[in-house]
Amino acid sequence: MMAAGDDSGSPVRVLAGQAAITAWQQDVYRSLHAHPELGHQETRTAATVAEALRGFGFEVQEKIGTTGVVGILKNGDGPTVLMRADMDALPVAETTGLDYASTEHSTDSDGNEVPVMHACGHDVHVACLLGAARLLAATPGSWRGTYIALFQPAEELADGADVMLKDALAEKIPRPDVALAQHVLPFPAGHLGTREGAFLSSGDSMRVTVWGRGSHGSMPQLSVDPVVLASMIVVRLQSVVAREITPGEFAVLTVGRIAGGSKSNIISDHAVLELNIRTFSETTRAAIVAAIRRIVQGECEASGSPQPPDFELYDHYPVTSNDADATQAVAAAFRNYFGERAVTLDRQSASEDFSEIPDALGVPYTYWGIGGADPDAYARALEAGTVAVDIPANHSPNFAPVIEPTLETGTAAAVVAALAWLGE
Ligand code: ZN
Ligand code: ZN
Repeated sequence: MMAAGDDSGSPVRVLAGQAAITAWQQDVYRSLHAHPELGHQETRTAATVAEALRGFGFEVQEKIGTTGVVGILKNGDGPTVLMRADMDALPVAETTGLDYASTEHSTDSDGNEVPVMHACGHDVHVACLLGAARLLAATPGSWRGTYIALFQPAEELADGADVMLKDALAEKIPRPDVALAQHVLPFPAGHLGTREGAFLSSGDSMRVTVWGRGSHGSMPQLSVDPVVLASMIVVRLQSVVAREITPGEFAVLTVGRIAGGSKSNIISDHAVLELNIRTFSETTRAAIVAAIRRIVQGECEASGSPQPPDFELYDHYPVTSNDADATQAVAAAFRNYFGERAVTLDRQSASEDFSEIPDALGVPYTYWGIGGADPDAYARALEAGTVAVDIPANHSPNFAPVIEPTLETGTAAAVVAALAWLGE
């Protein structure tokens, strides 16, 4: 690995052309934002990406997994750096009021007609990675090695990285020396931050079906009421993190959905609970899953449930744990280029499937955050103690990163980080 920070020459030379691509990049971003696509449906986005990469001189492969795109740019002997951007949007109705706001609708995987919005900023990630790809392609004399720009589908569905790997991604690209990724977060635009070790939590969803005995609502004595049973489980689950996990150890257990019955005068024969689990350690995750099973089974027995409960784990995201050496190299390069705009971030209780790619390829990775919030609005909210209310976070229908300096920062970050390996 080249020591970042020794030489700021490469980033300065590659980024000298940044101002000249700003208008193009902002157009790309507004177009992506206005035309968001759900996971595995990113055909328009993938076509935009592939066409742009070909124009820059990348060797391009499309439809990896479902809509995945990979561009490879070989520039002599040297290390290989992979940078990933996710492309998918969310089933959210946009309320930002922006003149480039989405009015799109689509059909989700359950067949429901839903509004679609880039409410997680993946349009920022795509625009920044395209910008970095264009700048690197235009300055081959300022770096050496191989740059891989990877555009992944369906991060929000937890299987976009997986489908690319299952479609033989490892055989389609040179083995990278490091993998990089970034995410726009609700802190001031213009700033960016790294973190060594665990950065993003693991995430798991679990569907629990508990069984009762149906009856007329007027004859409860003939029933085993699954609504009462499910309610007991919801209350009892609140004690798992509070009473079973070591104080100070991060853990979240949320019951995000409870469904049972169809009508006031009918006692149903089953109820469904959908749970979400977030941790920073596999041990804690296993302890929570075991506690859920024990409590659900115990409550079913207490209610006289006629049949054992069903458990289904789905939408698994691993812990994102940044490699120490790679993170130190990127953090040093960021400090060198961005000065005090580069900070250390706290752990985030969000989750990502990005790390499945470097883990499968057996390479180190680092994943950092870039700010997207209007710096003035953020400063006012901080002063007033109203950040949580006034600064819309990812997945909010009001999530609206300011275009600049968000794109400028995310693009420069992608270039600076890559040059920690590829620079002179
Ligand atoms: Zn998201
Ligand atoms: Zn996201």
